[in-house]
Amino acid sequence: MNGLKQQTDLLSPDKEHMEELFDKMAAGYEPSVSEWRLLIGGAYDRALLYRKADAVRRQHYGRDVYIRGLIEISSYCRNDCYYCGIRRGNVHARRYRLPEEEILACCENGYGLGFRTFVLQGGEDIFFTTKRVAGIVRRIKERYPDCAVTLSLGEREREDYEEWYQAGADRYLLRHETASKEHYEKIHPPELCYEHRIQCLWNLKQIGYQTGCGFMVGSPYQGTEELIADMRFLRELQPHMVGIGPFIPHHDTPFGACAQGSLAQTLTMLALTRLILPKALIPATTALGTIHPQGREWGLKAGANVVMPNLSPPGVRGQYSLYDHKLCTGDEAAEGMEHMKCRVADAGYRVVVDRGDSLC
Ligand code: SF4
Repeated sequence: MNGLKQQTDLLSPDKEHMEELFDKMAAGYEPSVSEWRLLIGGAYDRALLYRKADAVRRQHYGRDVYIRGLIEISSYCRNDCYYCGIRRGNVHARRYRLPEEEILACCENGYGLGFRTFVLQGGEDIFFTTKRVAGIVRRIKERYPDCAVTLSLGEREREDYEEWYQAGADRYLLRHETASKEHYEKIHPPELCYEHRIQCLWNLKQIGYQTGCGFMVGSPYQGTEELIADMRFLRELQPHMVGIGPFIPHHDTPFGACAQGSLAQTLTMLALTRLILPKALIPATTALGTIHPQGREWGLKAGANVVMPNLSPPGVRGQYSLYDHKLCTGDEAAEGMEHMKCRVADAGYRVVVDRGDSLC
């Protein structure tokens, strides 16, 4: 019936037609601009959307939740993104770098706790040269050949990414933050180039990485049109992983007084992402858990299937302060895994010991 087209053109939030639209999206249909406005605007029963996203996730991944051990290797960064607490211009940020042996000790601890993916994340710190990172990746892969290594070290040149891939890195996370060039330039300093960021993601995919992009919801100057650009970019790039979290201000940044993104809008974007990328790996982010005590669980129920507890040495966790009140203890800490498993089980899912590779 062509009632769907007529109804969505009229921006109808009617239940039956929204269900039909969700089904079509999960089968590959690309919504029109007016449909995207309706979907992102959320003036319909969002519980319906979350249920559909959850059903799509269960169809491909069952109840499994994959865990990633997050090791924050450096809080130094050469960049000055306006929203970030460890931007180079923040003179109050506490800086540290983890020595190689300490990174390996984190992996050893994580392996014992059941982690089969280690995520090395840091600011763009030139101390971690291409060779140094390649050496660390090689050592981790030698010791833990059954584990995946994910890198999240920002923008580098294609040759650098290639060297790390040759060393054994499996995945790379690089949030694009916004797929609107105009918006990108409002939240980054002039020396950062939107085209370069996007090119990095294409390079990573071409090299063979399981590639992750992602964006903040509710960042300054972001509106519906910017979020539509994000969704269209996801459809184009077809990433293996997508990190979506609410914008949370950090008091020592130019956006320190801006309002944070909302839980409902973040869950909506997460669920819509599950519909258009049914096989993607989508974390219930730390930021989601930071803005609401049940944020993680809600994320899982809206289509997320990954959690990333913190495996960094406890002494430095508080220093990797990307935004205010970032969680790094309790369930967020790798040592809190038992409690995390219970919470995940209570939400209707199960934490598994598995590399958790993408099905894409
Ligand atoms: S968002 Fe990333 S690149 Fe930008 S300042 Fe923060 S750590 Fe550096």
